[in-house]
Amino acid sequence: MKYVLITGGVVSGLGKGVTASSIGVVLQACGLRVTSIKIDPYLNTDAGTMSPFEHGEVFVLDDGGEVDLDLGNYERFLDVTLTKDNNITTGKIYQSVLDKERKGDYLGKTVQVVPHITDAIKDWIESVALIPVDGKEGPADVCVIELGGTVGDIESMPFIEALRQLSFSVGKDNFCLIHVSLIPVLGVVGEQKTKPTQHSVRELRALGLTPHLLACRSAQPLLDNTKAKLSQFCHVEAANILNIHDVPNIWHVPLLLRNQNAHHSILKQLNLLSIAAPPDLE
Ligand code: ADP
Repeated sequence: MKYVLITGGVVSGLGKGVTASSIGVVLQACGLRVTSIKIDPYLNTDAGTMSPFEHGEVFVLDDGGEVDLDLGNYERFLDVTLTKDNNITTGKIYQSVLDKERKGDYLGKTVQVVPHITDAIKDWIESVALIPVDGKEGPADVCVIELGGTVGDIESMPFIEALRQLSFSVGKDNFCLIHVSLIPVLGVVGEQKTKPTQHSVRELRALGLTPHLLACRSAQPLLDNTKAKLSQFCHVEAANILNIHDVPNIWHVPLLLRNQNAHHSILKQLNLLSIAAPPDLE
């Protein structure tokens, strides 16, 4: 199984869900089968009890799972049918670990965030990634994982650590990290600012994860010198810096990615260039 992890930096609501779904579309257009997992680091077991005014509409899956709207994006963009297990929350992970603790499964050990919570996260991801969601037999080729929230949040730390361990255990040919970040423009100066992205990449690297691609959200397309600066200071190849500027309709995002050869960078990282077809999104 190959994993594509989408993390977010600087602010929430950047469009990680739309980016993750669009990357799935581009990979599917290259002939790959794609599944997805959304991680929500909040303590609620699911989105069913959360106010839609605060969190957006709750999306109800075929199996009755009440989940974040991003899973609705995945189902529509990728034409898949997800289950409630494709949405991982801190609540679900702790509940499973505490249930096991009460049953005595840890045999007198001290139950801790590392390794018990992190192991539960890894096991959950690795088993759910194998479940086919496109109506075909056998597991998908690629699992796109979106980590909700912003890198550096206390709540997401166990997930970051579990994903760091996962990236190490699956090996570099099977793991591609795409960090979605914001490139703001200061009104008076009128310059695209890279510093917030530099800081969030530094934070990610301090936690042991290195981004292979940057997906930069900005109001206008990125200028060449902004890209050059990001590449130099964030240690990401210029060809792997994608720009997802504001578009009038989110269905344009897969085309935006295709036009920047995002598939090439991702497939190269995942060592899949030899088996993938050129993307057909027409
Ligand atoms: P996150 O997962 O980071 O919280 P979402 O994917 O839910 O963010 O997107 C937040 C909002 O931004 C949504 O309303 C989405 O339609 C919008 N959005 C995302 N990407 C773009 C884009 N490139 N252009 C315009 N709107 C976008």
